[in-house]
Amino acid sequence: MDLGIAGRRALVCASSKGLGRACALALAAEGVHLTLTARGAQALAETARHIRETCRVEVIEVVGDITTAQGRADALAAAGAIDILVNNAGGPPPGDFRDWSRDDWIRAVDANMLTPIELIKSSVDSMMERGFGRIVNITSAAVKAPIDILGLSNAARSGLTGFVAGLARKTVRRNVTINNLLPGPFATDRLAAVAKGQAAATGVPAEEILARRAAENPAGRFGDPAEFGAACAFLCSASAGFVTGQNIVLDGGAYPGTL
Ligand code: NAP
Repeated sequence: MDLGIAGRRALVCASSKGLGRACALALAAEGVHLTLTARGAQALAETARHIRETCRVEVIEVVGDITTAQGRADALAAAGAIDILVNNAGGPPPGDFRDWSRDDWIRAVDANMLTPIELIKSSVDSMMERGFGRIVNITSAAVKAPIDILGLSNAARSGLTGFVAGLARKTVRRNVTINNLLPGPFATDRLAAVAKGQAAATGVPAEEILARRAAENPAGRFGDPAEFGAACAFLCSASAGFVTGQNIVLDGGAYPGTL
């Protein structure tokens, strides 16, 4: 299926590894030129090199923290006029709300709510003027089914979800869609880090926690980041212009609701 976005330009945030990287790979396979960001230069350079070797697209690397004003300014300046924005950043740490200070809350809201809102603000009007735009926010299945130890994430991402629900109905008339992808458990470094935290808290080895979690999923496994990337690329496609304001859960069926 030709997604009709060859030659478009995308900014994919936090994309040297994991789900962001998978989105970048899927877009590059469709001929989309990329600007990629991450804090660590080495993994970013490796991902960019891999994409250049496998796809005939331009790849710009921007090393920086996307949750800072400087990081966002650098990414936007390097990317230029973008047609596609994939918002992503690391998730807040797990823990007990009794231990979280105001600064912890501000950091989480900054990273997982205000950063994507700032990037949308910087790009959405220009997309609407040009009559094409696709914005995908990587959030979490925890927005629909909260995970107790991820309270910072549950709250900050729900705030973003509420904001997007309103804006997405304002932009679609100009062929600019805004949707959220809600990952359940995907096999990435982040999943391993969360299991390590649970292992430290419970004394159960991380491998055992991961094996049990995979077995409990209706699919009997974790998601493959490539499956996530494919969903992102579809939402960014020319034919997805009638899909906006949606929260699409990719979790192997773990969310138990009928709707
Ligand atoms: P990951 O494998 O740890 O990859 C995170 C990527 O983001 C890396 O490239 C990392 O590079 C970059 N990054 C992190 N913080 C950044 C920042 N402040 N500025 C720029 N780049 C940054 O994580 P993942 O599993 O792909 O998760 C992506 C998002 O989905 C996270 O918010 C996570 O909480 C959420 N999520 C994941 C799962 C899952 O099962 N994997 C489930 C639910 C939600 P650097 O560290 O070098 O910056």
